[in-house]
Amino acid sequence: MKWILKPRFKPFLNYKEWKKIFRLNSDAVYQFEKKFAKKFKAVDAVTFPYGRSAQWAFFNAIGLVNSEVLMPSYTCSVVAHAVTLSGNTPVFVDINLNDYNMDLNELEKLVSVKTKAIIATHTFGYPQDLDRLEDIVKKSEIRFGHKIWLIQDCCHCFGAEWNGRMIGTSGDVAVYALNISKIMTSIFGGMLTFQNQDLANIVRDWRDNNYKKTGFLKEIKRRLYFILVCIAFSKYLYFVTWWLQEKTNILNKYTKAFHLDNKIHFPVDYLDHMTNIEAAIGLVQLDKYDQIIDYRRKKVNFYQESLSKNPSWILGPIIQGATYSHYPIRVSNRDAVLKEYINHGVQLGNLIQYSIPNLPEYSHYKGDFKNSTLASSSLINFPVTK
Ligand SMILES: *Cc1c(COP(=O)(O)O)cnc(C)c1O
Repeated sequence: MKWILKPRFKPFLNYKEWKKIFRLNSDAVYQFEKKFAKKFKAVDAVTFPYGRSAQWAFFNAIGLVNSEVLMPSYTCSVVAHAVTLSGNTPVFVDINLNDYNMDLNELEKLVSVKTKAIIATHTFGYPQDLDRLEDIVKKSEIRFGHKIWLIQDCCHCFGAEWNGRMIGTSGDVAVYALNISKIMTSIFGGMLTFQNQDLANIVRDWRDNNYKKTGFLKEIKRRLYFILVCIAFSKYLYFVTWWLQEKTNILNKYTKAFHLDNKIHFPVDYLDHMTNIEAAIGLVQLDKYDQIIDYRRKKVNFYQESLSKNPSWILGPIIQGATYSHYPIRVSNRDAVLKEYINHGVQLGNLIQYSIPNLPEYSHYKGDFKNSTLASSSLINFPVTK
């Protein structure tokens, strides 16, 4: 057992973010929206407290309710929670086992007269085929005679490209999440980006009528959380963090308020505006974006070379334009591999550990999601952060 443990992910933070902690940062939210829109090629961007809250708000703002929303069975469960909590019904589509994205042949088969929206998630930073996706939407709209909203969930794929086109620049809206486990962070936080100014205005107005301004206390709490994260992920203390997480319930108390895989719920402050300190951190991270992606791509190339000798491991593909939120590898003995690496001082991830239709809250969905089930029980992820 090594006492220095390399974490499965680590936010890319240094003195540049720390400098913001001691400032007021008024106006940062406004600046963050402007700069984010520019970076990810949108006409406008609107901030939210969490990615899931952003997705939920979008459905509310456009008045989509009592409708079926097609989405992959293998993605973060909060995507399905946001659909459900907005009064809509998720309909799951199995994934393919090459890049773990929604199987577009399956998607095409499942679109029906009840389908009003499609969410594509670009899992692990692998871009989904945008041309095919748009084609399916267009043909289905003609066939069923109504609008089908295309939502790109970019939480794993910030700035990824499909055939030279940036993900998130097509469809109606793109959703980004910015918590500390994401490609870039604003402590917590979510963002919607738009290609249509009128739609952005509708959503911003809806947010401003329904979300609360945050007070001074929340600004302090977010700063404290930032400081705790820096401590928890520091090189010599991460082993303690890991131990507390694995062997005690102390951290669960905090992480479970934010996320439970098998309960449909949102954090209590999901109707708060993003704080200025979060936006200020996000602004610094935007400047580091290119550096972050560059590092991830190099790391994945390195893994491809050094891990391909193991014949029983199925390595995630190298794909032009992918931004690698995680680097997935399929193994047959996941628990043993995780344990072996811990003993060598490396924490691997085991994301995503469930197929959503197998979670108790969604178990009434019938269907065969065999690829999604296989991925959920056999994937490990190698660290792609420093
Ligand atoms: C993290 C994530 C979200 C939601 O983000 P929160 O900010 O935690 O609400 C949504 N979709 C995907 C694919 C994610 O990875």
